[in-house]
This record gives sequence, structure tokens and C-alpha cells, in this order.
Amino acid sequence: MTKPYVIRLSDILDRIQSYLPGADTTLVEKAYVFAAKAHAGQVRRSGEPYLSHPLAVAYTLAEMKLDLPTIAAGLLHDTVEDADVTIEDIRRLFGDSVAEIVDGVTKISNLPVRSKLHKQAENFRKMLLAMANDLRVVLVKLADRLHNMRTLEFQPEHKRRRIARETLEIYAPLASRLGIDWLKQELEDLSFMYLHPEEYRALRDEVERVVAARQDFIEEVKRIIAQKLKEEGIEGRVLGRRKHLYSIYRKLQRNNLTIDQLYLVYDIIGFRVIVQKVKECYEVLGLIHSLWKPIPGRFKDYINLPKPNMYQSLHTTVIGPGGRQMEIQIRTEEMDRIANEGIAAHWLYKEAKIIEAGSAKAGQLEWLSRLVELQKELQNPRDFIESLRMDLFPDEVYVFTPQGDIKVLPRGATPVDFAYAIHTEVGHHCARAKVNGRLVPLDYELQTGDIVEIVTASNQKPSRDWLKFVKTSRARSRIRQWLKQEEKQRILSAGREILDREFRKVKLTLSQFLDDPRAEEVVKAFSFKTMEDLIIAVGYGRLTAQQVVRKFTLLREGEEEPSEEAMVVKKPRPDRGEDTLSVEGSEDVLFHLSRCCKPLPGDEVVGYITRGRGITVHRADCPNVKTLDPERLIEVQWEASNGAIYPARLWVITADRKGMLATISGAISACEANILEAEVKTTPDKRALFNFLVEVSDRGHLDHIMQSVRQIEGVIRVERRFA
Ligand code: MN
Repeated sequence: MTKPYVIRLSDILDRIQSYLPGADTTLVEKAYVFAAKAHAGQVRRSGEPYLSHPLAVAYTLAEMKLDLPTIAAGLLHDTVEDADVTIEDIRRLFGDSVAEIVDGVTKISNLPVRSKLHKQAENFRKMLLAMANDLRVVLVKLADRLHNMRTLEFQPEHKRRRIARETLEIYAPLASRLGIDWLKQELEDLSFMYLHPEEYRALRDEVERVVAARQDFIEEVKRIIAQKLKEEGIEGRVLGRRKHLYSIYRKLQRNNLTIDQLYLVYDIIGFRVIVQKVKECYEVLGLIHSLWKPIPGRFKDYINLPKPNMYQSLHTTVIGPGGRQMEIQIRTEEMDRIANEGIAAHWLYKEAKIIEAGSAKAGQLEWLSRLVELQKELQNPRDFIESLRMDLFPDEVYVFTPQGDIKVLPRGATPVDFAYAIHTEVGHHCARAKVNGRLVPLDYELQTGDIVEIVTASNQKPSRDWLKFVKTSRARSRIRQWLKQEEKQRILSAGREILDREFRKVKLTLSQFLDDPRAEEVVKAFSFKTMEDLIIAVGYGRLTAQQVVRKFTLLREGEEEPSEEAMVVKKPRPDRGEDTLSVEGSEDVLFHLSRCCKPLPGDEVVGYITRGRGITVHRADCPNVKTLDPERLIEVQWEASNGAIYPARLWVITADRKGMLATISGAISACEANILEAEVKTTPDKRALFNFLVEVSDRGHLDHIMQSVRQIEGVIRVERRFA
């Protein structure tokens, strides 16, 4: 794109009038005056007044045909950073959308950037897109970076390299993702020039030489295609253009070629045929394949399958005149415009028709606001918007350690997830968290760009509550592991306590037992591997302390093995499917479902370690749980159903009792559930209260029944009751 050497306000205003004829540009003029005042006296390294930079940025934005708030933001983008201006000043004078854009650009500029950047470039790019929930922020940042790259020669050497690398790794791919091809190419070539100045110059000279040598060939190909188009009556143009230097350089690298071997690269020149209609693209493809033999596997149809950035074209490689390979792209004018200018151009193209029709609202380009809206709108976007959105709003958040390393976490992640992502020990001892220097709760939802600091304390322990809010599987499994270990300790001490009590009844102590060599025989007699396993079995109630004590006293008295009776208690046949429960890490545990709250598979439940009678299972919200010793509570899970059935109590309140019992019973039976009891009362307000005890397989089954009963006419309320 052409550009005046020193940009003046009038250049920008002229440019705006070329695509927004008659627009009221007061906002841009005001921004210019404000920026001029804010930057007064500041000078760039080039010796130019600082204002030349925002002017150049705003001009590029006008070249990209952006709306007036974006161009105003371009003029103001460095005022908050470099001058004594606040976002609130900008908001007051220029409105919300200009302020949001300037704020976004300032935030991006202030992100900590580390030397390890190249490893995290992709994350950084995604983060920029995620932070800029208005695409215009990214566009201003790209225009800013373009001008900084164009004037990079004035920076000291080490800074030049850093900025060039960052541009190559972050900003050029961003331009590419947004489909702004010219910008990507210029950023890449400028970066290449500063990162590898010698190779850049050598390659540039060699490319010029090769292109000059192939000039006849280029002209011949263009002539042949143009001739063919004319014969077939297709209106179109043929271009033969050399590719940008950095893409040629990459190609050499990929194929392990030196610059001297450039003649081996056939596609330094790319040919492009631009026609009017989509149908003609395929016609031209046929014509080209009839002229020259296509190379199999090289044809790509991006018209039917556009790239995520909306790029559309047909690509083919054929063996051209003189047996030389050549790559040809075929596309329509509109596709060409989108390939050069990016996704924005798509809306602009439609907009242009409206502007021509004279109905455009001056100063506001609808395509842009529509794009911004589409970004925000999450339902049913068109396919390409969907894929763009995936990039713009990934289901991830990007946060920083205080050292500036980026951690990628799933959306909704908390400081605890972050702590476990750093190290398991940091997670276990995570006591408090600071985000951007401020204390936050441990279940705070991290936001992209947050700088997160974890304060550990040696006496801090993981809490079961953490499982309710952590989002990463890493944190979840580490917390579970810790709790499991802790639970094991708890069961062990419960087992020890029970055993000790039982031993004292026969004037012994647990330690006497443990110190006795015959204790090992007791372990073996009950088929355990270790003493620990035996104590755990007692803790869980699988084995009674009496059995252990009896066995031990018999051994001490030197008596023979008694009958079967002292064996491990076989789990009784569960009458109500109590073996569909498990405790992590333990098998063969005895469970009782508590009568007070009648838990069902699917309910959140907790276990209570009784003294020697196994584990009682309550619903987590059972009021009785609060009265139990918290030291003896244990996590239990439902296993897959084994066809067992459970009782559940239902209250149904209806307006009128006539015929209701039969209707409700019918509905319950239709859900394949048995009714064990049914009772009806009339309430003082003349309603009927039905009390059912039903048998169900799990929570889902009960929900289904409740759903069906609710649909019965006259039913006012359906409730599940504890007792
Ligand atoms: Mn700037």
C-alpha cells in the first residue's frame, strides 16, 4: 500500500472520505487535537515529533477502512501509556467504544513479555485475542506494531532483535489468522530483515536475479492464459507475482536448500487468475488443466472448504512451458479482496453496496459493529464465525505467574487449579491467593491476563470443599489422592482405637498385641498381608475386634485353631443393593444406607465410620450428618447399578382428591416403580396430601417419576421427603 512519507491529519481525513463519503469526522479531528497536546514536546528516536507515530497508526487503520472510533483510538492509543492521561479522560471526551479500544491496547502493551516467549507464542497470541473482546483492539495493536517495525532502524540493536522476533512470533501470525495478507507479509519481511540482515539481502538480490531471468517465462504464461480466457469469453485478469521474501526463505529452510539453490524452487512466482463468478473459477481450472498437466495431489479447493479466516481460492500446480512446475491460484474478485484485506473485507464488500445506494449511516460502518456483535453472540453463528470465535474466545484462560510465565487453564479455573499447575506441594499448602496484587478467595474465577500469586502455609491442608470448585483434572486427582491417604490414616486410627478397647476387656493393650510375635499369625489367620490391612478391616467393620482378640488369646493359650467361626465376616447379602457403594481404595466394605434420609444412587452421599459396624451412608444434605463426628466422615461413591432397588418417599399435594390416588398410582406404575405404601390426608386449606413410599433404582428413576406426577392435572407440588 502506498503511504505519504509524513502523515498529516488531512491525509487521514481524505482517506476516510474515500470509503465513507460525507462522514462527520469530528471525533477523529478531536482525537488529533487531544493527542497533539498530550504528546507535545515528546520526540521519537528518529528525531520526529512523537505525534508522527499515532498519525501513522491512524492512517494505516484508515487504509484498512475501519470505523471512526477505531481511527480515533489509533490517534489516542499511546496517550494513556506515555502521557499524563487516564482512561476516564478518554471515556469522558470520546465515549465508551474509543475508551475500550485504547484501554485494550494499553493492557496488551503492558503484558509482561519474557525471553522464553517463543515457547509460548501460541498461548500469547490466543491470549491477545481472548483479551481483546473487541476485535478492533487487535487491529489497532497490529497497526501500531506495523509502524514500529517500519521505523525499527532507529532502535538499538538488541531491542531491534527482540521486537522483530516478537513480531514474527506473535503479530504476523495474528495478522494471518485475521486473514490480512498484506500486513502479515510486510511484518514478516521486516522481521526477517532485522533478524537475519545478511541472508535477507542475499536472498533479495538472488530473487531479483531469478525473477529477471524468468521474465520471458512469466510473460508467456500470462499471455497463454489470457488468450484462453478470451477464446472462452471469460472476463478476468492474470497476475504473475513473486512471493514475499520470508515465505521463500521458509521454503528454502524446509527443503534444506541454500540461497544458491534458489533456482530449484519453482514457485517463487505465483500465478493468479481473477474472474467474476465462482462458476468461472472451476471453468478456468478445467482450461488450465487442459493446457498443462496437473501434478496429482496438489489441487486444493478452498472455495468449497474455506480456511477459518475465510480465505477462498482454487490452488493447482501444473507442469508449464519448458517442463517447469508452476502454482496457479484461481479466485473471484471478492475472494481476492478478502485474501488481501481479511475477514473485515467481507462485510465491507456488502457495506460498499449499501454506501453506493446512499443509505450508509455516516461515520459508522455496520459491518464492523456487526462483526463485533457476532463476536459477542454465542448462539448459532455461521460456520466461519464459529471457527473464528474458537480462536477469539478459546475455552481457556491465560494467566501469569509473578515471574511472567504463562499458564493455560480451562475457563472457570481457580487459584487452587493454578497452585496445582505450579507444583503438587504448592497446591497442598495453598493457603491464600493474590490476583494482580489483591487477595481473592480460593474459588475466585481466574481471568485472562491475571497475575496470580499463591501464598502457601505449612499447616494448610487440602480441603474436601476444594473439589467443589476446582476445574482441572490435575488438581482434582491430587486432592483426591491426598484425601484418600488422609482417610486411610483416619480408618487406621479408628481401627486401633476399637482394637485397643477390645483388648483392654481382656486386660491387654493394643501395643502388647502389636509387640507380640504371634500377632503375625493372627494377620495370616484372617488372610491379610499386613497388620495395617487388618487394622483397616477392623476400622471399616469388616472384621470385628472381638474376633481378633479371641484369635490372639487362643494363640497365646496355645490352643488349636477353632472352628470356622472366627473367619472374616462374609459380607451379608445386601437386601437393598448396598454393595453398589464403594470407598476409594478399599474393597469389601460393609455399608448400611441410613434410614433417616434414604439415599439413592445418584444422590450426593457421605459415609460415617461406625464403631465396628461398618459404614453408614447418609445423603450429604441429611441434617443428621451435622451432628456426627467429622473425624469419622468418609467419602463414598456409588458404583454402577446392579439392578438393586431402594425405598424413596414422595409427597404429592393436589387441589382435589377425587380420583387422584388412582391417577397418581397409575403414573408411578407406568414408570415401572412399585408402591410400598400410600396414604392420603386432607390439609386445612382443603388440599390433599398423598404420602407414597416407592421403590426405585436410582435418583434418575425417582426424578422421572416426579416429572410424570407433576404433569398430572390438579397436582400442585411433588416433593421428595427424607423420612
Ligand atoms: Mn504505539
